[in-house]
Amino acid sequence: MTDYPQLELLIGGEAIGAAGRETIDVLDPASGDVIAALPAATAADLDAALDSVSKGFKSWRKTSADEREAVLRKGAALIRERAKEIGAAITLEQGKPFKEAVGETIYCAMLLEFYAGECKRLYGRTLVRPDGQRAEVRYEPVGPVAGFSAWNFPALNVMRKVGGPLAAGCSVIVKPSEETPAGGLGIVKALHDAGVPGEVLQCVFGVPSDISEHLLASPVIRKVTFTGSTAVGKHLAKLAAEDLKRTTMELGGHGPVLIFNDADIDKALDTMSANKFRNAGQVCVSPTRFLVEEDVFERFRDGFVERAKAIKVGNGMDGDTQMGPMASQRGPDGIQAKVADALDKGAKLEAGGNRIGNQGFFHEPTVLSEVPLDAEIMNEEPFGPVALINPMKGEAAMVEEANRLPYGLAAYAWTQDAGRRMRMASDIEAGMVAINNGSVSAADAPFGGVKWSGSGLEDGAEGVTACLVSKTVHESA
Ligand code: NAD
Repeated sequence: MTDYPQLELLIGGEAIGAAGRETIDVLDPASGDVIAALPAATAADLDAALDSVSKGFKSWRKTSADEREAVLRKGAALIRERAKEIGAAITLEQGKPFKEAVGETIYCAMLLEFYAGECKRLYGRTLVRPDGQRAEVRYEPVGPVAGFSAWNFPALNVMRKVGGPLAAGCSVIVKPSEETPAGGLGIVKALHDAGVPGEVLQCVFGVPSDISEHLLASPVIRKVTFTGSTAVGKHLAKLAAEDLKRTTMELGGHGPVLIFNDADIDKALDTMSANKFRNAGQVCVSPTRFLVEEDVFERFRDGFVERAKAIKVGNGMDGDTQMGPMASQRGPDGIQAKVADALDKGAKLEAGGNRIGNQGFFHEPTVLSEVPLDAEIMNEEPFGPVALINPMKGEAAMVEEANRLPYGLAAYAWTQDAGRRMRMASDIEAGMVAINNGSVSAADAPFGGVKWSGSGLEDGAEGVTACLVSKTVHESA
């Protein structure tokens, strides 16, 4: 496998290979074959990383904004230069089409460029005081950060863990997913090559719960940032609370899509079907519950089914593939169980429903309609290529269903009515709402959820301020 890079731990500026350490197999989801052995950090490695990240913080926090900006911009340039190389590694370990993997990598560079600019915008504030007195609010980096990220965006999730902290002046230990290590390592190495010191940014792997428990038990770590399931997010938030560490939690969602009878239905179909099956549905902001006004329900359902059936599923390295395999065996297993439960409870299978072949982790683009509210899939994030399309009676019922779940990450609404667009913006409980639009993410836009979808924000100016603490200085002449 010539395109897949060497896997290492990066601790205190040293690259540590597999020799003398336990290893974790990395699989190609298109074949199920083992493609690499990932070294696992020992307890001593983690202690060394903690020691280094503490030293790294002392120096990085003193760098000037100009210096940090220049290093981050150089990192972004290197990521752009290496986008095809990093993208190929992502496709091999995670399965998404190569074009999407390269796009993900370029997006990392865009985010880093935005963060670089923010280095010079961490303004403080001067309070009104009489002559002879001064009171100043200053913003300072929170301290060393521990970041844990998921496998669905191997590079972008890692960039979201490190970009904001580095811009703010924090040092970071990041643990990308063991299932998809190379994308994140590619980002970390580009930053090192751009001049981020090895003590300031480190990368470890191992048994996830052992690593987080070890790092979070240390008073050195002052902030925890995590992307993954709500269950693990709650667990990490509890560990963080023991030491009152700051947290950013980017957790699951169950994206409602409200399709009103006055919507541009063809545009909604083209946009949302492509969005649904992007990355085989393994996206936290994936549209999931399609709530369609009953008079346009059949047209929308049939149009969606037609588009789902036309999707070309295959190996992500093949140029004409539109949807790759799911990232691991858990993917098709979970979808199969949830689809069976939904059909058992009375849902209708409109498209797909099966695994594809007996090699790798492929699953058909799947559409269920008229899915009862007590089906597991209407309540738990499917995180896979399944759309649920239900007929609904009017706006109030649609908003009520959109807000029924404890999740609130991304929501989508399609309507031409200006008044209704305003109501959607205010009435839907979500961190991000897209109206007549399929995208909820941009480098300058805060990304994050409410309720069980998480707390704290990444991206945008908020992604940096989330890594700052304020200090007020009261001074007399
Ligand atoms: P998970 O939460 O168990 O794992 C997600 C990531 O967190 C993995 O990379 C894992 O290595 C890491 N992790 C797990 N336990 C950890 C711990 N104790 N400490 C530190 N890191 C830990 O999720 P999963 O089993 O991979 O997927 C289950 C569900 O989670 C999905 O179906 C989906 O609903 C949700 N999920 C959400 C996102 C997201 O983007 N928000 C990403 C992945 C999974």
